[in-house]
Parts: sequence; structure tokens; C-alpha cells
Amino acid sequence: MAAFSRGRPNIRGLFTFRTLISTRNFTAGNFDYDLVVIGGGSGGLACSKEAAQLGQKVAVLDYVKPSLKGSKWGLGGTCVNVGCIPKKLMHHAALLGTAVKDARKYGWQIPESLSHDWPMMAEAVQNHVRSLNWGHRVQLQDKKVKYLNMMGSLVDKHTVRAVNAKGKETTVTAKNIVLATGGRPKYPTHVPGAMEFGITSDDIFWLKQSPRKTLVVGASYVALECAGFLTGIGLDTTVMVRSIALRGFDQQMAGLVTDYMEAYGTKFSWRSTPKQVEKLPSGLLQVTWTDLNTEEERQDTFNTVLWAVGRAPEARTLNLENVGVKINKETGKIIVAADEATSVPNIYAIGDIGEGRPELTPTAIKAGKLLAHRLEGHSTELMNYDNVATTVFTPLEYGCVGLSEEEAEKRYGKDQIEVYHAFYKPLEFTVAERDASQCYIKVICLRKGEQRVLGLHFTGPNAGEVTQGFSLGFQCGLTYAHLRNTVGIHPTCAEELTKVNITKRSGLDATVTGC
Ligand code: FAD
Ligand code: NDP
Repeated sequence: MAAFSRGRPNIRGLFTFRTLISTRNFTAGNFDYDLVVIGGGSGGLACSKEAAQLGQKVAVLDYVKPSLKGSKWGLGGTCVNVGCIPKKLMHHAALLGTAVKDARKYGWQIPESLSHDWPMMAEAVQNHVRSLNWGHRVQLQDKKVKYLNMMGSLVDKHTVRAVNAKGKETTVTAKNIVLATGGRPKYPTHVPGAMEFGITSDDIFWLKQSPRKTLVVGASYVALECAGFLTGIGLDTTVMVRSIALRGFDQQMAGLVTDYMEAYGTKFSWRSTPKQVEKLPSGLLQVTWTDLNTEEERQDTFNTVLWAVGRAPEARTLNLENVGVKINKETGKIIVAADEATSVPNIYAIGDIGEGRPELTPTAIKAGKLLAHRLEGHSTELMNYDNVATTVFTPLEYGCVGLSEEEAEKRYGKDQIEVYHAFYKPLEFTVAERDASQCYIKVICLRKGEQRVLGLHFTGPNAGEVTQGFSLGFQCGLTYAHLRNTVGIHPTCAEELTKVNITKRSGLDATVTGC
């Protein structure tokens, strides 16, 4: 995948347009805090806790505006409440369903008909999330970070206005300010009935009752992951794809992910765009869409429509323009330099809100911690956003680091790269008689010299665990020879990466046979 291997932004260029706006005359030491962080999600919490640990006086503001459907949650941001954590737990719930079916083949006596209890799963997941909310509050207290459950906005470059749920207002001043307000799911506002009758990822994890037959609109991370776990727990699920699945990822790998999902039971409405959502007297949602292949209109009814059509940055309420913090007008995200500084020197932005940054929790956390160290003068180390590994938690997980095959060809030319690949069968699939057609490995290398690895792609069980390990090698300058010199751990799926030896160019059968 190419998305997270972009070059670093040019800091010098950014400094030229920085505006120094001062509406108050502060001198160092006159502030309420050394650091005020707006946004208590992955990045904001990491930054505030680290800064406090380094001896800074810190406050963090976090405020959750309820979703359109009224869902709300506690401290911790998207990942903890409506992202990575509930998603991975529900993904696990779905995988357990598959495991139970496999278990029969391994001798477990399990009744033929299996059913899943949504309220029970949802309550268990939500209770875990609440325990994490509480854990974050305790950690802030322990680390002496002042937590303000208030909505923040900038008054000037050193002053933050904070308003609580009852409208009570206060201001706090700080030497430095970090903006870490993340984003929220978008609705397709041009589709009548979309906002009125649809839900988003801000709601799905907090539903008390099963969403039942669901239409998921969108075809990227959020859409495919949600559709995957909904299918896995036994719900009739359709994904509506406007163009391609997993844009920005290696498209051969994306195809394997969706092929597996189709075989797993997820329905796909390819090349379709929604036109309208209406509520029928029965309570069912009638969705009308256009089949872009034929331009024909189609209709079906669903219990739930889940919009997974991307996320919008939470920047509008921050009063950025008045203070001189520049945004990219197209994306609405804050323009940041390599040191996370905005166009106002003492105001920084980290995480999803930063233009060009990967929308991933570990990058937000690491960027926040490194920033805290630089602000304290402990270090000058910058966040390295190159070659960040990622995993899509679909029924067949897909992990990758580095370039997609398309991007490697674009950058180096088809003749200059060597693609090693293998179709392998996870051992656990054998006795269970599961189809392994989509379990695949692809290692993209430079063709000449020591064959530096440019991209590494893996579909199969525990792809996140596998990819995490190999991403360390990637950071250390992994070459094809390194992979081949690594002794595998047998019997694992990850060992297949150390054995991969068939090149795509050779046209030989890449199916792994024997040990
Ligand atoms: P957030 O975590 O969004 O935190 C921002 C916080 O600021 C929120 O609490 C918000 O309410 C608050 N806020 C906003 N405005 C204000 C204001 N004016 N005043 C006070 N508070 C404010 N990433 C992964 O790495 N792995 C995954 O598996 C993964 N799964 C995901 C699944 C889903 C469904 C989604 C939606 C995202 C997922 N992500 C995943 C992405 C990850 O959640 C985000 O990249 C990460 O949470 C971004 O952190 P952040 O600190 O930038 O913002
Ligand atoms: P993305 O912006 O990645 O994808 C949006 C999807 O919605 C695309 O498939 C897009 O199609 C489609 N779409 C947009 N508008 C419409 C429309 N009007 N009608 C139909 N389809 C539409 O957003 P996501 O919300 O999926 O993910 C946001 C980010 O969150 C990701 O980039 C990722 O970094 C993070 N994330 C990480 C996860 C992980 O680490 N496992 C899991 C989930 C999220 P098209 O391609 O045609 O534009």
C-alpha cells in the first residue's frame, strides 16, 4: 500500500506562510499551563500524559458531541469508543463463529443450529469500552493531567475557550497548544433520507439491538470491516461499492479480501450508488440505488443502512481561521509541518486532524509522545510516517507494509521490480476443510542489487500479528536475502514469508506444496 509511505512535508516551505498573531501580550511563565491539548483521543491522551510525565503542567479537554442518532461515549476518542477496540472485539466475535463451525471437524459436539445474541455481545463490548474510559480518567489523574470534559476552541494563540455540556464557559491559557480533535463519520448529504434513517460507525457499536439485515455503503476499511463482522455473526449483509474496494491498497490483495468475503456470505452490489432511503410503514428502510453498469435503478429493503463513506475532520468548531491556523480548504484538515507545528508556531496538530497523516491510532500516539518530548526540549526526534504497517480486519485479514505492486511499478518501473508470491494453506484450514484460495503472500522487491523489499502483503489468519513482526524488519532495511536467511517457525502462516521463492515474472505455479 502506498498511502502511508509519503515523503515528509517540507517544513521550510511551511514556515514561510506562518502568521504570528498575538492578541495578548504573554511572557513565559504567565500561563495557566505549559500545555493544553484539545481532544482526548489516541493522540491527545498520549501527548498530554507524556508531557505531564516529563514535568509539564498539562490540561486536556475532551468533549463528545452525540452522533446524529444520539450515540455518545466517554473519554478516549474514536479508537477506544467507536473504532479499533469495539471493531476488533466484534471481529473476534465473528471469527469465533467460524471457529465453532471448524470445531465440529475437530471433534467438538456442537448443535447444528448456531445463533448469535447481539445484545449480549454489545453489552460485553460496551462494558469493556467503559472500563477503558475509566482507565483513561484514572491515568490522567495519576499523571496529574487536568481533565476538562469541555469543548475547546481557540481564542488566540495562547488561549483556549472551554464550554461544558451545560454551557458553562471558562478560558485557560498555555504556552503551547496541541490540537488532536480527530474526525467524525460523514453522511452523503445529497442522498435523501441518508441522515434521517441511516447510521454510521459512531452508532453501530452502541446499538442495543441487532441491526439485522444491513446495507453497508462504502468499500474501504470501515465498510469492509463492519460488513465482515456483521456477516460473521450471521446477519444478511450487503456492501454497496461505488468504484473499487480498498482504494490505495494493492488491488490484487483487495480482490482477495472481497472474494473471500463473498464466499463467506457477504453480498456485494458492485458499481452502485445510493439514490434515496425511505422508511416504509413496516419500519423497513427501502433503498433505491443506481447500478452504474447499466444506469438502471434498483431497490431493496433493509433493517439498517450503515454509511461508511469516509470521515470529516473535527476542525470547524476550533476557530482556526481567526487565530491564523491554516487548513487545507479541500479536506478541512490542518496543515502541519514535519514537527507537527501548524502555521502558528506554538500551536501543533496531531492524529487524524493533520493533513496527509495516516488515520491510524499508533501513528497518532507516537506522534503525540514524540511531540511531548520535543516541547520539553528532551529530544529533536521527528515522527517517521514512512512505511507504517496496517491491517484490515476483514474475515480474511489483510496486513501490509510499504508499497502496493501498482505503486512500486509506478515509482520504479515494472522491469525494475521483482514480485515473489505464494498461495499457501494455513494448517488450521486443512482439518476444517476450509477453502484457502485467498491466502496469499506477496513480497515486492527491487530487482537489482540486494533486492530491497519495497512492499510486503499478507492475507490470512492473524495478519496483524504477522505483519507487525515483519514491519520491524522493514524499518531495518529488509532485503529479499534477509527474508530467505530467516529461519521460519513451523508450523505457522508467517513462516511462508521466509520461504517465498516463486517470482510472478516466471509464471510458475505459486501454490505452496509440502512443508
Ligand atoms: P480521536 O481518537 O478521534 O480523538 C479526538 C477526540 O477529540 C474525540 O474524543 C473527540 O470527541 C474530541 N474532540 C473533538 N473536538 C473537540 C473539541 N473542540 N473540544 C474537545 N474535544 C474535542 N486505527 C487503527 O490503527 N487500527 C484500527 O483497527 C482502527 N479501526 C478503526 C475502526 C473504525 C470504525 C474507525 C472509525 C477508525 C478506526 N481506526 C483504526 C482509526 C483510529 O480510530 C483513529 O486514527 C484514531 O482514533 C485517531 O486519533 P486522534 O487522536 O487523531 O483522534
Ligand atoms: P475512506 O475515506 O478510506 O473510504 C471511504 C469509502 O466510501 C470509499 O470506499 C469511497 O469510495 C466510499 N464513498 C465515499 N463517498 C461515497 C458515496 N457518496 N457513495 C458511495 N460510496 C462512497 O474511509 P473509511 O471511513 O473507511 O476509513 C477512514 C480511515 O479510518 C481509514 O483511512 C483508516 O486510516 C482508518 N481506519 C483504520 C482501520 C484499521 O486500521 N484497521 C479500520 C477502520 C478505519 P471511492 O473509493 O469510490 O471514493
